Amino acid sequence: MKRLIVSACLVGFDCKYNGGNNRLEAVVEAFKRGLVVPVCPEQLGGLPTPRPPAKIWGGCGSDVLAGKARVITVDGRFKDVTDNFLRGAYQTLYAAELLGSGVAACILKEKSPSCGVRKIYNFDDDTLREGMGVTAALLSSKGFKILSSEETEEIEKLIKELQ
Ligand code: SF4
Repeated sequence: MKRLIVSACLVGFDCKYNGGNNRLEAVVEAFKRGLVVPVCPEQLGGLPTPRPPAKIWGGCGSDVLAGKARVITVDGRFKDVTDNFLRGAYQTLYAAELLGSGVAACILKEKSPSCGVRKIYNFDDDTLREGMGVTAALLSSKGFKILSSEETEEIEKLIKELQ
């Protein structure tokens, strides 16, 4: 059976930086049917919940993977949490690789510095720019199909095909 790797906050787990979630009904229904493997890279990387929000400084997720950019908290303390983000990305890859060809796609939360697929926040302000988060970039580089949480029609179509 093919399964979906999904950002845990989309399933309704309260793993967001502020203790909330980003519940998406289509993936909740898929979870109920046993089709979803929920992952929160930031928790898997050892960060607490709630936790200070963070952004990528100096590039996007692939730059972080290449050692050319860092992930820094933006709560005024500017703590470097790059190692946590990298650990979480590789832990998520571990789950995906265990399932291997059994992964139909990874559905990841848009705009997150870990899970963002098309857009992430600029470090200096609340504007968005093109680029993937750290986990999305790693999974994509390993050939896994990635869907943004905003691609709702595509997500619903895929889940229907898996049933
Ligand atoms: Fe965790 Fe990704 Fe959701 Fe952030 S977007 S709470 S890292 S699953």
